[in-house]
Amino acid sequence: PGIDQKILSVTGLEVDFDGFKALRNLDFSLQYGELRFLIGPNGAGKTTLLDVICGKIKPSQGSVYFKDTIDLTKHQEHQIAGLGIGRKFQAPSVFSTLTVFENLALSMKQQRGLLSALWAKTTNEQRERLHLRMDMIGLKSKANERAGSLSHGEKQWLEIGMLLMQEPDLLLLDEPAAGMTDSETEKTGELLHEIAANQTIIVVEHDMAFVRQFAKTVTVLHEGTVLVEGNMTDIQNDEKVAEVYLGR
Ligand code: ADP
Repeated sequence: PGIDQKILSVTGLEVDFDGFKALRNLDFSLQYGELRFLIGPNGAGKTTLLDVICGKIKPSQGSVYFKDTIDLTKHQEHQIAGLGIGRKFQAPSVFSTLTVFENLALSMKQQRGLLSALWAKTTNEQRERLHLRMDMIGLKSKANERAGSLSHGEKQWLEIGMLLMQEPDLLLLDEPAAGMTDSETEKTGELLHEIAANQTIIVVEHDMAFVRQFAKTVTVLHEGTVLVEGNMTDIQNDEKVAEVYLGR
């Protein structure tokens, strides 16, 4: 795909919860390779938007296209990974009694199951990919440690690594640095930029310091629609944002 091409195109989106419009007339698009931060006050619709993208919630109006032709509103949540979209929720969910390596091996695309993953029925090419990922998430030296013994931050990275083993083109991350120490937060920001060299990411984030440090393009949602979108400077100087979001 060319640099100007959109990986995701959302138009006129509306989500209705028994008469309450959680999203209304929402337009949103992403270019390939973007790292996009999605912010906005509580109840703005950030989670609902991610839920629509991954097929969990069906909109009452509007369209959601992935890679031009894939109509995401026609797919169910369990099909989304197969289409190339990976979602990570806030709390890490790794297999505590398995090692870092085993957690990643299990998550590999087309992995046939627990036993073949655990009994190292991996090809050279697969092992190489596993090592590349462990390096990327900073856990190579902990390959044989049980996931349960990792710090909160390391578990989060492991889960991001597990998501990457599925080779998604689009990652949806919910507050990836929540609960992390300062140095873990810093590493997470760097990791997101590294991932965005090859993949596209949407990050829902509440931590404004994190957003200021790592965001290039930010979309601000408010009352179910896009209030403003732009770079960090645009966002910080925007009157509407100051009013509704920063409470100035
Ligand atoms: P955010 O993630 O930005 O905090 P949400 O997408 O969770 O916002 O919620 C948007 C609005 O939709 C909120 O007012 C919320 O109360 C409402 N909402 C979310 N899910 C449901 C639901 N299943 N039923 C009814 N209302 C909902």
